[in-house]
Amino acid sequence: MFQHTNVLPASYLARAGRARYAVLGDPINHSLSPRLFKLFAEHTHQIIDYRAFQTSLEDLAKTLKELYDQGYHGVNLTSPLKEKAYLLADELTVEAQQAKAVNMITFDAEGKALGHNTDGIGFVRDLTQIKNYPLNNKSILVLGAGGAVRGLLPFIIKENPNAITVCNRTESKAQALAEEFPESGSCAWQNMALLKNDLLINGTNAADALELPELNIPVWYDLAYGLNHSFFQKEAKKQEVVYCFDGLGMLIEQAAEAFFLWRGAAVDTHTFHHLLLTF
Ligand code: NDP
Repeated sequence: MFQHTNVLPASYLARAGRARYAVLGDPINHSLSPRLFKLFAEHTHQIIDYRAFQTSLEDLAKTLKELYDQGYHGVNLTSPLKEKAYLLADELTVEAQQAKAVNMITFDAEGKALGHNTDGIGFVRDLTQIKNYPLNNKSILVLGAGGAVRGLLPFIIKENPNAITVCNRTESKAQALAEEFPESGSCAWQNMALLKNDLLINGTNAADALELPELNIPVWYDLAYGLNHSFFQKEAKKQEVVYCFDGLGMLIEQAAEAFFLWRGAAVDTHTFHHLLLTF
């Protein structure tokens, strides 16, 4: 296990010359990752091969092995594979252990798979550096207690917020998270409107099934983007929210972090936040 240091351990860089990567998920047609990584490569004058493969949960282990055998250096993982990838990885970074989910695997020269998670850093960078919304001293209500929220919490905590309250449809999961991360607390779903908060983070995948009371929170951030974000956006308008962000920025930032770890090249992501509006 290694602490996150913005470099991969030497053993994992042994295949750095083979610039083949992929994103795996089911479904995968909607994924923006191939376009993002192509843009990052052009931007940093690198040549990489990045593909998308539809992969079921049952096929994940087999696909990982096949991709390693074909010379792939690493893969990104999206829904519903992150938890399975966590179980399959040979080694895990601290971020992956905390999230209990893996969104990036790097193969070493022997085919060992290092599982990492860049969702937390992607979220915090997008909100604090791209959107210029500092989290220190903020009171934050987080909806959901799944893999994405688990990955976010340690990174939000590092920003010294005033309070973090996790609220989940299945309350016991929110309570378990609050026990694991003592800097946060939990509240029952029906009580979410009772607290005064500055920021609402939607980490559920409920889309149009999400039912929210009047919240009186000025800034909302939805981890979802595209069509899955539409309902949340409509609800934000109804509740006269000042800013309502979608998860595209987080997607860009988590991908840029993966690109940096794999290729050693930092991407000036500000450019891409504008470019993606035309996707
Ligand atoms: P999980 O399946 O791990 O968790 C889903 C969560 O949503 C659970 O807490 C679940 O509650 C809750 N939920 C589901 N349906 C409802 C409902 N009808 N009402 C209230 N709560 C509900 O998903 P992830 O954590 O992996 O992903 C969550 C969201 O984050 C997704 O939209 C995903 O696309 C997005 N995401 C975005 C990223 C980005 O880069 N922008 C990166 C990672 C994720 P319960 O426990 O009760 O079932």
